[in-house]
Amino acid sequence: MENMAVQCPKCGKIHHLKSRSDMVVCDCWRICPICGAEMTPYTPDTAPKTYALDGLRELQVLVACTRHSPPFYGLQKPVEVRWDA
Ligand SMILES: [Zn+2]
Ligand SMILES: [Zn+2]
Repeated sequence: MENMAVQCPKCGKIHHLKSRSDMVVCDCWRICPICGAEMTPYTPDTAPKTYALDGLRELQVLVACTRHSPPFYGLQKPVEVRWDA
């Protein structure tokens, strides 16, 4: 069986896909760029109506590293790594 190696454009980590239509989510978005620790997911406590306009409601899970003062808030979304050829 084909085993396709792809590289995360963000962190350079190598992932293996089962097929060309396969996709993996790299977990580097949860790593704090300052200290390298895994950050804690949190949901912004914004009132839903402020970002539920036009039915466009994007569930955004953010991450925070509480080791810093003030905490570092990651805004990066998970990196989807696909076969890109
Ligand atoms: Zn990555
Ligand atoms: Zn940190």
